[in-house]
Amino acid sequence: MSAAGGGSAARYDLPEVDEFTRPYWDAAAEGRLLLRRCGECGRAHHYPREFCPFCWAGEDRVTWEAASGRATLYTWSVIHRNDLPPFGTRVPYVAAVVDLAEGPRMMTEVVECEHARLSVGMPLEATFRETAPGIAVAVFRPV
Ligand SMILES: [Zn+2]
Repeated sequence: MSAAGGGSAARYDLPEVDEFTRPYWDAAAEGRLLLRRCGECGRAHHYPREFCPFCWAGEDRVTWEAASGRATLYTWSVIHRNDLPPFGTRVPYVAAVVDLAEGPRMMTEVVECEHARLSVGMPLEATFRETAPGIAVAVFRPV
């Protein structure tokens, strides 16, 4: 077993930021969600990849763009147990897959919503959770 950030307490909710994904995480820290859009086939994707996952156009044809932050709920699961830190301190939480208005499907969390109110297709908007200094992760809440 390995854990990120050896030495300090293991955490499993921190992204690996590299040179390619840095624009995404820099924007997230400012409360903006970025997508990658292909100039060849016109489709947007998430998570960020250097090449278009639909037509394999190269990185020179795929650019960052700001997402609207609008999405609809596709599916979800209320998580009551997760032994990986720090998730254990957050249960129960709502692990979800949402359809972004721009098309991509994204794994995330739904917050600020009673579980009984969750329903397929419900409109959501992005909000950001600061998980560590300078690192923010997009989650979604009801509009
Ligand atoms: Zn493409």
